[in-house]
Amino acid sequence: MKKSSLSLFFTNKPWLQSLVWLQNRSWFSKEWWKSPKIIGGTLAAFIVLGSGGYYLANSSSAAYLIINGEKVGIVVNQLSGQNLIQTVLQEKGATLGVVAKTHDKIEFTPARVSKDQFQPLSEGELQDKLSTYIEAGEITIANQPIFILPSLEEAQGLLKSYQDIYTKTSDTNQVNEVSFEEQVETQSVEVTPDKVLTPEQALEKLKQGNIQKQEYTVQASDSWWLIARKNNMKTLEVLAANPGTTLDTKIKPGQKINLAKVTPFLTVVSKGTRIDQETIPFDVETKTDSSLGSDQTKVAQAGSDGQKEVKYIYVQKNDKIVSKSVIEEKVTKEAVKQVIAKGPKSTPMVVAFSRGSGQASGLGWPLNSHINSYYGYRWGGFHTGIDLAGDTGDPYVAAAAGKVVSAGWGGGYGNCIVIDHGNGIMTRYAHSSKMLVSAGQSVAKGQTIGLVGATGNATGPHLHFEVIINGDTVNPLNYLP
Ligand SMILES: [Zn+2]
Repeated sequence: MKKSSLSLFFTNKPWLQSLVWLQNRSWFSKEWWKSPKIIGGTLAAFIVLGSGGYYLANSSSAAYLIINGEKVGIVVNQLSGQNLIQTVLQEKGATLGVVAKTHDKIEFTPARVSKDQFQPLSEGELQDKLSTYIEAGEITIANQPIFILPSLEEAQGLLKSYQDIYTKTSDTNQVNEVSFEEQVETQSVEVTPDKVLTPEQALEKLKQGNIQKQEYTVQASDSWWLIARKNNMKTLEVLAANPGTTLDTKIKPGQKINLAKVTPFLTVVSKGTRIDQETIPFDVETKTDSSLGSDQTKVAQAGSDGQKEVKYIYVQKNDKIVSKSVIEEKVTKEAVKQVIAKGPKSTPMVVAFSRGSGQASGLGWPLNSHINSYYGYRWGGFHTGIDLAGDTGDPYVAAAAGKVVSAGWGGGYGNCIVIDHGNGIMTRYAHSSKMLVSAGQSVAKGQTIGLVGATGNATGPHLHFEVIINGDTVNPLNYLP
C-alpha cells in the first residue's frame, strides 16, 4: 500500500515532531511562518484534503524541498514535506523494524505555483533522492565484515543464537565452556538499509554456511559417489548442486558438473560432560552340530546387543565431537552372544575361477547394488577392490563358500572379513557396521556374513570388496557374473 504524503498530514505524531523540528531550524523564517497566506493555504489544504481531493488556490503557497542545496521537488508545505521525509525514512527501515536516518541537509523555500502546474513530489521520487542510513551492528570474522544486522544488540544476539544451536544443556549434557574458533567482533556501523539483514535472514545464512560454487570435469570411471568422495562431499550434496540429477543419471568423461562447497562461517567450540547410551555389539560363536547336513547352518541362539551408559568429557566443534575421553562406563544391559550351529564340513569346495566370462567363475555378487568406485588407480593411489553402494545395516553375503580367515578390525578397512576359498583365492569385505561371522567359521556361498557400514577409512557407508589371488588383488569384475 502506498501512502500519500498528504494523508500523513493528519497523523498526530509526525505532525508534532515536525513542528518541533521546524522551530529548531535557523533557516526557518518566522515572518514566513506567520504569513496569513500560508496559514490560509494550509487550512485550505486541510479542508479540501478531508474530502479526498487535491485543491490549491491559484496562487497557492507551496514549498520547494531542497536536499543538499538541490531543489528536488515541490510539496504542499513544509509540514507535508517533513511528513513525506518521515514516511520515506520509516519505509526504508520498515522491514528491519527500525526508522532509517539521513545525513542529508534538508531545507524548504517558499514556492508559488499555479493550480494546474502543481505536481507534488511523490514518495517514490523522494526515495530516490534522499540518502538514508541506519545505525546497524556489523559482525566481522577475522576482520572481514560478514553480516550487518539492524542493531548492535541484534548482532550480538545472533552470535548467541548460533552458539545455542550447538550447545544445548540437558540432563545428559552439561556445557561448561563456549567460544568461537574464529576471531569474531561486533561493531556499530552506519550503512544503507539494503545492506542489512534481519536476524532471521542472518541466522539462516549462518546456518547454511559459506557456499562456494565450483565446476568439476568428470574423469574416466567417475561416478556420482566417487566425485563426492574426491571432493570430500556427500553424494546427495553433489546431486543437489546439479538439479534434476539422480544416482542413475549417466555422466560422461569431460562433462562439466557443479559442486557447491559449503564451509561454516563460524565454528562454535564447546566443552562439557555428556552421558550417552552406547550399543555393545553381540559376539558370534559357531558350534558344530552333527545333526545338520554338511555346510548347513542354523542360528541356535539369537544374539542381541547390550547397552551401556558412557559418561565422557568432550570438545565439540559445531555439531562434531572432536575429542572425547571416557570418565565412567556402566553396563545397563548385557549383550547376548549369537550361537550358530553348523553341520559337518563338506569336502573342500573347488571354485572354478575363470577370467572374463564370469559365468563359470563361481563367485557371486556379495551385495546387489551398483558400483561406486572401480578397481584401479584413482586420485593418487591404487584402489584394490570395488566399492558397492549400500546403506548402513544392509546385509551382504559371502561371494563363494569358504572359511573365514579373519573377522575383526583391519585399520583403514574398518571391520573387515577375509574369506579363504581355497586354491589361493580369497575375498575381503571391508567397512562393515557389523560382522556376523568369526575367524575359523565356514560359510556358504550367499550366506549373510556382515552388514554394510562406514567403519575405517570410509566417507560413507559402502562395501569395499576385494578378490585376492595368490596374495595379490585382482579386478573383481573379471570374476563376477
Ligand atoms: Zn574401496
